[in-house]
Amino acid sequence: MQAIRTVDATRYITPLREGGSLPAIIEASDGELYVLKFRGAGQGRKSLIAELVAGEIGRALGLPIPELAFVELDDAFSRSEPHEEIQDLMRASTGLNLALAFLPGALAFEPALASPEALQLASAIAWFDAYIMNVDRTARNTNMLLVDGKLWLIDNGASLYIHHTWANFRERSRGAFPQIKDHVLLPYADALAEADIVFYNGHGLEEWLADLLRNAARPGQPQIAVSEGLPALGANDEFREGNPHFWMSAAFGARYLEKIRDGLIGIDPDGRAIYTANAAAYSKELLALNEELKQQAAALPAESRKIVTNHDALPYFAQEYGFTIVGNLLGSAESEPPAGDLVALVQQIKAQNVKAVFSESQFSPQLTATIAREAGVKVVANLYTDTLGEAGLGVASYADMLRYDMRTIVDALQ
Ligand SMILES: [Zn+2]
Repeated sequence: MQAIRTVDATRYITPLREGGSLPAIIEASDGELYVLKFRGAGQGRKSLIAELVAGEIGRALGLPIPELAFVELDDAFSRSEPHEEIQDLMRASTGLNLALAFLPGALAFEPALASPEALQLASAIAWFDAYIMNVDRTARNTNMLLVDGKLWLIDNGASLYIHHTWANFRERSRGAFPQIKDHVLLPYADALAEADIVFYNGHGLEEWLADLLRNAARPGQPQIAVSEGLPALGANDEFREGNPHFWMSAAFGARYLEKIRDGLIGIDPDGRAIYTANAAAYSKELLALNEELKQQAAALPAESRKIVTNHDALPYFAQEYGFTIVGNLLGSAESEPPAGDLVALVQQIKAQNVKAVFSESQFSPQLTATIAREAGVKVVANLYTDTLGEAGLGVASYADMLRYDMRTIVDALQ
């Protein structure tokens, strides 16, 4: 990878108003034009760090991102600036700043103006933005430019927001990126058609995938919801098809296996013997695990088997292993719960003598800790529900995840 060059700003040309920020076109000591992002601007240094890290990852992947450069801004620069707002910004940004090479003749991105070659990058860009957790490549703010039909990704700084809160960063980095549903290129991201077969959980979990599965599919491409036909619990406004978290029961996990086995045999009949043998061996392992988990749960007194978590991930776990879900912090919605619900939850925890509150790995533990404190019970960190965890923690496989969760729950409710 090329080293990042450092240049000096020599001439201020014009401000570029972009949403809340105020970058500027400048000329630098190398005679080139740059779009300068001021270190002292509202979004602060973290968005510049994200801009740099995400931008260089994209460039290393061969995506069309303008060259990034460091720009030294001299104190004297601000004195000749008539606008007070810009003068303040410059003064707050004396020293090192970040810039992208200016693209002359660039137009705002419009699908109709993009060349077919440009749109062929859609799958790669959507993947990249999910990887860097970029929340801002939406129709409202595409953060893309076109130069003669060629597409450029600019402004990759609304990403890696994980570095604003480091709690559980490893687990969160493995989680899904649901915001991808608003990605402006998603309708063009059609590399999915190249897959021989698509497996997804189903029961509404991948709603964001539905349009993509419909539009991007190859005719005849098998698309298999592995939870199809399983007896769902808890249909509500959010989960109209019922709760999708079947995998939290090893018995249902074994049912997923049948779907996967049959799907693979469908596209590769010659492999029938091996798929059947492998599925049978793994199924045997999961069913043995299921019995082991039942026994561990049964060792707890029935009145202790009460669970409170962040979100409604454990109904099938509770059903299979004999627990009661007292409540969860998000209620049935995937957003911040209303305060009244939390007060009621605290009362429930006290009234039902719940011994501990579990924080799931993909959530920040803060709210859980507050609830636990108010209810006067302990908070137990890191149940793995929607993601696996690090190999070193013993949660790197599906079976290990269930084993780990049961051990954690049984220990805490002892
Ligand atoms: Zn979930």
